[in-house]
Amino acid sequence: MSAELFHAVAQVIKRHRSQHGTVPLAHSYDPHERIWKISLPFLFQRRNGLTRSAINPATVRRRLNERCEALAVTHPEFEGVRFAPHDFRRLFATDLVNSGLPIHIGAALLGHLSIETTRGYVAVFDDDIVRHYQEFLDRRRDQRPTEEYRDPTSTEWSEFEEHFDKREVELGSCGRPYATPCAHEHACIRCPMLTLKPGMLPRLDEIEEDLVQRRQQANAQGWHGEIEGIDLTLTFLRSNRGQTQRAISLGMPSTAPARQKA
Ligand code: SF4
Repeated sequence: MSAELFHAVAQVIKRHRSQHGTVPLAHSYDPHERIWKISLPFLFQRRNGLTRSAINPATVRRRLNERCEALAVTHPEFEGVRFAPHDFRRLFATDLVNSGLPIHIGAALLGHLSIETTRGYVAVFDDDIVRHYQEFLDRRRDQRPTEEYRDPTSTEWSEFEEHFDKREVELGSCGRPYATPCAHEHACIRCPMLTLKPGMLPRLDEIEEDLVQRRQQANAQGWHGEIEGIDLTLTFLRSNRGQTQRAISLGMPSTAPARQKA
């Protein structure tokens, strides 16, 4: 419970105790089962003739909405807002999880058998994602030796920038990890690390045409080993082109053509 909620609940209990010495037992009606349930010390109850009964959800809903209308006079953000009692379970679940409680513990507290039910209760806001991830990074960094987090030297920084310059290749960009050399002998057209730039599709057509001519020549000369290599390159080229064309048809924003080598 937050301090404000604790104070509100304590006030309700104090009011009952000052009038009755305890929280009186009250009936409650289950509108779904259409039965009266056993009497319990409900905090939110009222006298109805000679008996006491729990305030029903419809009344809670009406009073909440009356409060929203009254608040809207000074707080325009409440204008037109409608609450249901069940919304407070959602607010509670969101508050628990966003305060760092693991979602499976939240599920147990709310009495959910499936964590998916709890997931549906929790509102996830973009700034919470950023904040939680930042907190996670800070915790991880606290556990690492501090010397790992020194500022890089100018030589290291130049090497870092140079790596990204080197990842620009004729047909697009190379996705190999930082500080790793090209392990594929710069045969980019066959390489899974290559991300083809859409602007280079016409260049692929030229390469394909050249490969087809070389294949015809290799065939005429009986260079069977050469044919196998060319066929493999053609397979990669066509597959890469197909993937890029599919990405374009799905609405991927086109990028500028790769920088041409001087
Ligand atoms: S062959 Fe692959 S790893 Fe090497 S530069 Fe080309 S895309 Fe990068």
